[in-house]
Amino acid sequence: MTPPQTATGVFGGTFDPIHNGHLILARALRDTFALPEVRLIPTGLPPHRAAPPVSPQQRFEWVNAAIAQEPGLTADDREVRREGYCYTVDTLAELQSEQPDTLLVWLVGGDSFHHLESWHRWRDLLDCGHMVIAARPGYDWTTLSEELARELHNRAVPAQPAALGKGRISILPTPLMPFSSTELRDKLAHGEDVSGLTPVAEAIRQSGLYLT
Ligand code: ATP
Repeated sequence: MTPPQTATGVFGGTFDPIHNGHLILARALRDTFALPEVRLIPTGLPPHRAAPPVSPQQRFEWVNAAIAQEPGLTADDREVRREGYCYTVDTLAELQSEQPDTLLVWLVGGDSFHHLESWHRWRDLLDCGHMVIAARPGYDWTTLSEELARELHNRAVPAQPAALGKGRISILPTPLMPFSSTELRDKLAHGEDVSGLTPVAEAIRQSGLYLT
Protein backbone atom coordinates (compact mmCIF):
# COMPACT_ATOMS: atom_id res chain seq x y z
CA MET A 1 0.00 0.00 0.00
CA THR A 2 1.36 3.47 -0.85
CA PRO A 3 1.55 5.73 2.18
CA PRO A 4 -0.98 8.57 2.29
CA GLN A 5 0.37 11.92 1.16
CA THR A 6 -1.44 13.97 3.74
CA ALA A 7 -3.21 13.49 7.00
CA THR A 8 -6.15 15.37 8.48
CA GLY A 9 -7.40 15.33 12.04
CA VAL A 10 -11.06 14.60 12.74
CA PHE A 11 -12.68 15.28 16.09
CA GLY A 12 -16.39 14.58 16.39
CA GLY A 13 -18.51 15.20 19.43
CA THR A 14 -21.74 16.56 20.76
CA PHE A 15 -19.98 19.71 21.99
CA ASP A 16 -22.97 20.49 24.22
CA PRO A 17 -21.30 22.90 24.79
CA ILE A 18 -17.63 22.98 23.75
CA HIS A 19 -15.20 23.13 26.73
CA ASN A 20 -11.50 23.76 27.26
CA GLY A 21 -10.82 20.01 27.38
CA HIS A 22 -12.03 19.70 23.78
CA LEU A 23 -9.71 22.51 22.72
CA ILE A 24 -6.71 21.07 24.54
CA LEU A 25 -7.33 17.72 22.84
CA ALA A 26 -7.75 19.23 19.37
CA ARG A 27 -4.49 21.19 19.74
CA ALA A 28 -2.68 18.12 21.08
CA LEU A 29 -3.91 16.05 18.12
CA ARG A 30 -2.70 18.73 15.69
CA ASP A 31 0.69 19.15 17.35
CA THR A 32 1.46 15.52 18.20
CA PHE A 33 0.92 14.34 14.63
CA ALA A 34 1.98 17.59 12.87
CA LEU A 35 -1.43 17.81 11.19
CA PRO A 36 -2.10 20.88 9.04
CA GLU A 37 -5.81 20.68 9.93
CA VAL A 38 -8.02 19.24 12.65
CA ARG A 39 -11.74 19.39 11.89
CA LEU A 40 -14.16 19.61 14.76
CA ILE A 41 -17.45 18.05 13.70
CA PRO A 42 -20.41 18.67 16.00
CA THR A 43 -22.95 15.91 15.72
CA GLY A 44 -26.51 16.53 14.60
CA LEU A 45 -28.59 13.73 16.04
CA PRO A 46 -26.29 11.50 18.08
CA PRO A 47 -27.28 7.82 18.01
CA HIS A 48 -26.02 7.10 21.56
CA ARG A 49 -27.93 9.62 23.57
CA ALA A 50 -31.07 11.73 23.72
CA ALA A 51 -31.01 14.71 21.35
CA PRO A 52 -29.51 17.71 23.21
CA PRO A 53 -32.01 20.51 23.83
CA VAL A 54 -29.62 23.05 22.35
CA SER A 55 -29.84 22.98 18.57
CA PRO A 56 -27.07 21.46 16.44
CA GLN A 57 -26.63 24.82 14.67
CA GLN A 58 -26.12 26.60 17.98
CA ARG A 59 -23.57 24.03 19.17
CA PHE A 60 -21.78 24.37 15.83
CA GLU A 61 -21.67 28.18 16.11
CA TRP A 62 -20.05 28.00 19.54
CA VAL A 63 -17.48 25.51 18.25
CA ASN A 64 -16.77 27.88 15.38
CA ALA A 65 -16.37 30.84 17.73
CA ALA A 66 -14.16 28.85 20.13
CA ILE A 67 -11.63 27.92 17.46
CA ALA A 68 -11.64 31.22 15.55
CA GLN A 69 -8.13 32.16 16.74
CA GLU A 70 -6.72 28.61 16.67
CA PRO A 71 -4.34 27.85 13.78
CA GLY A 72 -5.23 24.66 11.96
CA LEU A 73 -8.51 24.03 13.79
CA THR A 74 -11.64 24.20 11.66
CA ALA A 75 -15.33 23.53 12.26
CA ASP A 76 -17.25 21.30 9.87
CA ASP A 77 -21.05 21.46 9.82
CA ARG A 78 -21.79 18.34 7.72
CA GLU A 79 -23.44 16.45 10.58
CA VAL A 80 -25.45 19.48 11.64
CA ARG A 81 -26.88 19.63 8.10
CA ARG A 82 -27.50 15.89 7.87
CA GLU A 83 -31.02 14.59 8.37
CA GLY A 84 -31.43 11.54 10.56
CA TYR A 85 -28.88 9.90 12.82
CA CYS A 86 -25.20 10.66 12.47
CA TYR A 87 -22.88 7.70 12.48
CA THR A 88 -19.15 8.25 12.69
CA VAL A 89 -18.49 5.50 10.17
CA ASP A 90 -20.57 7.40 7.55
CA THR A 91 -18.88 10.71 8.29
CA LEU A 92 -15.42 9.19 7.97
CA ALA A 93 -16.40 7.47 4.71
CA GLU A 94 -17.72 10.76 3.35
CA LEU A 95 -14.55 12.64 4.31
CA GLN A 96 -12.42 9.88 2.80
CA SER A 97 -14.31 9.98 -0.50
CA GLU A 98 -13.73 13.74 -0.68
CA GLN A 99 -10.01 13.34 0.03
CA PRO A 100 -9.03 9.86 -1.19
CA ASP A 101 -5.29 10.37 -0.62
CA THR A 102 -5.62 11.73 2.89
CA LEU A 103 -5.25 9.64 6.02
CA LEU A 104 -7.99 10.48 8.55
CA VAL A 105 -6.56 10.75 12.06
CA TRP A 106 -9.61 10.64 14.25
CA LEU A 107 -9.83 11.31 17.94
CA VAL A 108 -12.04 9.81 20.63
CA GLY A 109 -11.96 10.10 24.39
CA GLY A 110 -11.31 7.07 26.57
CA ASP A 111 -14.98 6.95 27.58
CA SER A 112 -16.05 6.74 23.93
CA PHE A 113 -13.49 4.03 23.26
CA HIS A 114 -14.80 1.97 26.18
CA HIS A 115 -18.23 1.98 24.53
CA LEU A 116 -17.01 1.50 20.98
CA GLU A 117 -18.64 -1.91 20.58
CA SER A 118 -22.04 -0.22 20.73
CA TRP A 119 -21.18 2.03 17.78
CA HIS A 120 -22.61 1.39 14.33
CA ARG A 121 -20.22 -0.90 12.37
CA TRP A 122 -17.55 -0.50 15.01
CA ARG A 123 -15.19 -3.06 13.47
CA ASP A 124 -15.21 -1.17 10.16
CA LEU A 125 -14.57 2.03 12.09
CA LEU A 126 -11.22 0.71 13.28
CA ASP A 127 -10.06 0.50 9.68
CA CYS A 128 -11.36 3.92 8.58
CA GLY A 129 -8.22 5.77 9.53
CA HIS A 130 -5.72 6.14 12.33
CA MET A 131 -7.58 6.21 15.63
CA VAL A 132 -6.26 8.31 18.49
CA ILE A 133 -7.54 7.83 22.03
CA ALA A 134 -7.37 10.47 24.74
CA ALA A 135 -7.38 8.98 28.24
CA ARG A 136 -10.21 10.27 30.40
CA PRO A 137 -10.63 10.27 34.17
CA GLY A 138 -12.68 7.27 35.30
CA TYR A 139 -11.87 5.14 32.25
CA ASP A 140 -9.07 2.76 33.00
CA TRP A 141 -7.46 0.63 30.27
CA THR A 142 -7.81 -2.39 32.57
CA THR A 143 -11.62 -2.22 32.35
CA LEU A 144 -11.80 -2.56 28.55
CA SER A 145 -13.64 -5.57 27.19
CA GLU A 146 -11.40 -8.45 26.15
CA GLU A 147 -12.02 -7.76 22.49
CA LEU A 148 -11.31 -4.04 22.63
CA ALA A 149 -8.19 -4.66 24.71
CA ARG A 150 -7.02 -7.10 22.02
CA GLU A 151 -7.69 -4.61 19.22
CA LEU A 152 -5.82 -1.92 21.11
CA HIS A 153 -2.91 -4.23 21.77
CA ASN A 154 -2.66 -5.44 18.17
CA ARG A 155 -3.01 -2.02 16.58
CA ALA A 156 -1.12 0.22 19.03
CA VAL A 157 1.70 2.37 17.68
CA PRO A 158 3.53 5.36 19.20
CA ALA A 159 1.83 8.75 18.96
CA GLN A 160 4.11 10.30 16.36
CA PRO A 161 3.79 11.33 12.71
CA ALA A 162 6.06 8.54 11.45
CA ALA A 163 3.76 5.91 12.95
CA LEU A 164 0.58 7.12 11.23
CA GLY A 165 -1.28 4.52 9.21
CA LYS A 166 -4.74 3.19 8.47
CA GLY A 167 -6.03 0.73 11.05
CA ARG A 168 -3.55 1.76 13.71
CA ILE A 169 -4.29 3.19 17.15
CA SER A 170 -2.31 5.61 19.31
CA ILE A 171 -2.85 7.04 22.75
CA LEU A 172 -2.62 10.82 22.82
CA PRO A 173 0.05 11.88 25.34
CA THR A 174 -2.11 14.36 27.27
CA PRO A 175 -2.62 14.52 31.02
CA LEU A 176 -6.00 13.40 32.38
CA MET A 177 -8.41 16.32 32.19
CA PRO A 178 -11.46 16.65 34.40
CA PHE A 179 -13.44 18.88 31.96
CA SER A 180 -16.83 17.67 30.72
CA SER A 181 -19.86 19.26 29.09
CA THR A 182 -21.98 17.65 31.79
CA GLU A 183 -20.16 19.65 34.47
CA LEU A 184 -20.46 22.78 32.35
CA ARG A 185 -24.21 22.32 31.91
CA ASP A 186 -24.65 21.73 35.65
CA LYS A 187 -22.78 24.91 36.51
CA LEU A 188 -24.70 26.91 33.91
CA ALA A 189 -27.98 25.61 35.25
CA HIS A 190 -26.97 26.96 38.66
CA GLY A 191 -25.93 30.32 37.23
CA GLU A 192 -22.26 29.75 38.04
CA ASP A 193 -19.38 31.46 36.25
CA VAL A 194 -17.90 29.10 33.63
CA SER A 195 -15.35 31.45 32.07
CA GLY A 196 -12.52 29.19 33.26
CA LEU A 197 -14.07 26.16 31.55
CA THR A 198 -14.95 27.34 28.04
CA PRO A 199 -13.84 30.16 25.75
CA VAL A 200 -17.47 30.89 24.79
CA ALA A 201 -18.78 31.42 28.32
CA GLU A 202 -20.06 34.91 27.60
CA ALA A 203 -21.92 33.89 24.43
CA ILE A 204 -23.51 30.99 26.29
CA ARG A 205 -24.52 33.23 29.18
CA GLN A 206 -26.08 35.76 26.81
CA SER A 207 -28.06 33.03 25.04
CA GLY A 208 -29.79 32.10 28.29
CA LEU A 209 -29.65 28.46 27.20
CA TYR A 210 -28.87 25.76 29.76
CA LEU A 211 -30.63 27.73 32.50
CA THR A 212 -33.19 25.56 34.25
P1 ATP B 1 -20.88 15.05 28.09
O1 ATP B 1 -20.34 15.42 29.46
O2 ATP B 1 -22.15 15.75 27.72
O3 ATP B 1 -20.93 13.56 27.88
P2 ATP B 1 -18.29 15.44 26.84
O4 ATP B 1 -17.57 16.35 27.76
O5 ATP B 1 -17.93 13.99 26.86
O6 ATP B 1 -19.85 15.63 27.01
P3 ATP B 1 -18.46 15.35 23.97
O7 ATP B 1 -18.74 16.47 23.04
O8 ATP B 1 -19.47 14.30 24.13
O9 ATP B 1 -18.10 16.02 25.40
O10 ATP B 1 -17.04 14.73 23.64
C1 ATP B 1 -16.51 14.64 22.33
C2 ATP B 1 -15.33 13.71 22.39
O11 ATP B 1 -14.33 14.26 23.24
C3 ATP B 1 -15.67 12.33 22.96
O12 ATP B 1 -14.93 11.35 22.24
C4 ATP B 1 -15.20 12.43 24.39
O13 ATP B 1 -14.82 11.17 24.88
C5 ATP B 1 -14.00 13.35 24.27
N1 ATP B 1 -13.76 14.11 25.48
C6 ATP B 1 -14.48 15.14 25.96
N2 ATP B 1 -13.95 15.61 27.09
C7 ATP B 1 -12.86 14.87 27.35
C8 ATP B 1 -11.87 14.86 28.40
N3 ATP B 1 -11.93 15.73 29.42
N4 ATP B 1 -10.89 13.95 28.33
C9 ATP B 1 -10.82 13.06 27.29
N5 ATP B 1 -11.72 13.02 26.28
C10 ATP B 1 -12.72 13.91 26.31
